[in-house]
Amino acid sequence: MPGRFEVAIAGGGIAGLAAALAFRKAGAEATIVERVRAFAPVGAGILLQANGLMVLDALGLGDQVRALGTAIPRFALRDSSGRCLASTEVNVHLPPQYWPVCIHRARLHDILWQACVRARVTTHLGCKVKAVETRRAASALICETADGIISVSGNLIVGADGVKSAVRKVAGISTHLWPVVEGSVQGVVPYSVQADCHGEYLSGSEACGMLPMGRDVTFWFWGEASRTAVGAADREFAGWRDDVCRRFPPMRRTLSQYSSWDDMVRLQHRSVRCDAWSCGNLVLIGDAAHAMSPNLGQGANCALVDALALASHIAAGQPDGEISVALARFEQDRRPQVDRLQQQGQDESTSVLGRWPGSQIIVNLALRLTRLASSSRQRADVLAMSGLDGTGLDLAATGVRAPIPW
Ligand SMILES: Cc1cc2nc3c(=O)[nH]c(=O)nc-3n(C[C@H](O)[C@H](O)[C@H](O)COP(=O)(O)OP(=O)(O)OC[C@H]3O[C@@H](n4cnc5c(N)ncnc54)[C@H](O)[C@@H]3O)c2cc1C
Repeated sequence: MPGRFEVAIAGGGIAGLAAALAFRKAGAEATIVERVRAFAPVGAGILLQANGLMVLDALGLGDQVRALGTAIPRFALRDSSGRCLASTEVNVHLPPQYWPVCIHRARLHDILWQACVRARVTTHLGCKVKAVETRRAASALICETADGIISVSGNLIVGADGVKSAVRKVAGISTHLWPVVEGSVQGVVPYSVQADCHGEYLSGSEACGMLPMGRDVTFWFWGEASRTAVGAADREFAGWRDDVCRRFPPMRRTLSQYSSWDDMVRLQHRSVRCDAWSCGNLVLIGDAAHAMSPNLGQGANCALVDALALASHIAAGQPDGEISVALARFEQDRRPQVDRLQQQGQDESTSVLGRWPGSQIIVNLALRLTRLASSSRQRADVLAMSGLDGTGLDLAATGVRAPIPW
């Protein structure tokens, strides 16, 4: 990184922490402002895929993540009774180090956080972004803290503050929030389920599933393609649990561990589409730029790739030294892949989780045909859309400028 370069990052989620680390490794100063006062172990499972794992390797954290998560070499799609309809072999194209890894979000977050501490990233917790002052050379995040207003300046401002991004709003970046189509409930239970229960269960407008996540821990999820899904929030817990167990008998043992909504994650998913990801020397990454449907498991992976790609583009510099030019090239490289993943996730959520009564029959039929045709195709498609075609696994294909500057 030429000269002293300061990056001010709004948000200490997966995108913000990974970006801070990547910029530190590239030789820049990095400061994170995060609205929460302390990180609580929130969330449930996250599936890290080849693109996200390659970024974690580049940051020196891949082995730690693999040691604390569980590799998922194949993914079964099942009917509501648990019968396997299709099995997607993810290892056909991939060397084992890139098999998807299921890990607790809080573990991944903690690994990134500890690495930021070691890399001497400056952090302000309990610090909420309220405004941005943009100037040509150095801009600033204006933040509210318990002790008053502080200003954190940087040559570059990164909005990594999630789906409801304050940075995006105050920067006036025009944004479309796609219609809400999915809500989900997720959790973890402290035991292993049998391998023949792993995978995703489909039934009409609902899907749920279970995946191993570390030793003796199972990640489970339930999702519904309707506005009433968050609705799980307003529903009486026992009624929801009993309904899900009746429709998906293999989920009974897992859901019977709970007697209330406590200890679960309930999320309403939105897709964010911005007209542009940057404006002047301010840029959005992760969910702030392009939150997507969760069904391809690419949200956190794309956030990781964004972080490394952004640092690599800034470090590569531009002949005229204009940050805005580097930011435009970053978006040019990343956006086509992200757009494709967003579109595919949206299409799958409306087709697989269709709401009309005959959809279950069509889904079962389609899945059987898929199995006959090629059980690995879907996963390969996601890889290709994320820029990795399985033959030349190369981060440069995901929008990261080579060589990575460290
Ligand atoms: C609490 C939580 C739990 C989640 N659990 C899961 C899960 O179990 N499974 C899954 O697949 N995905 C989960 N996700 C989503 C997943 O982590 C993200 O899709 C993905 O990692 C993208 O990360 P991100 O850093 O862009 O956004 P986020 O993970 O949303 O991080 C944004 C960060 O910015 C902070 N922030 C927001 N506004 C401000 C502000 N004004 N000033 C300062 N800081 C601000 C937030 O507190 C947060 O730490 C969860 C997200 C959150 C926030």
